[in-house]
Amino acid sequence: MPMQPIHRLANLAQRPDGAVEWACPRCGRYLVRYPDTQLVLAAGASDTIHLLGDRYPAAPIDVAAMSEFDQQFLHAHAIGW
Ligand SMILES: [Zn+2]
Repeated sequence: MPMQPIHRLANLAQRPDGAVEWACPRCGRYLVRYPDTQLVLAAGASDTIHLLGDRYPAAPIDVAAMSEFDQQFLHAHAIGW
């Protein structure tokens, strides 16, 4: 039994109406998940298992940490120049 490739969807955005947008960086699959339904806007690779990434619901914390990291990186880079 051949194994199906597995792609991890990336959390793109949280919509004001409660929906969450997900997209696959490898095949372009794109979907919007509501609490009780799922809307697939782009199918992407048909023989692939798609799992939701692990960044939701921790995305806001990740964004804050990333921003601080970027600032420190840019600061260090400027000193290097
Ligand atoms: Zn995919």
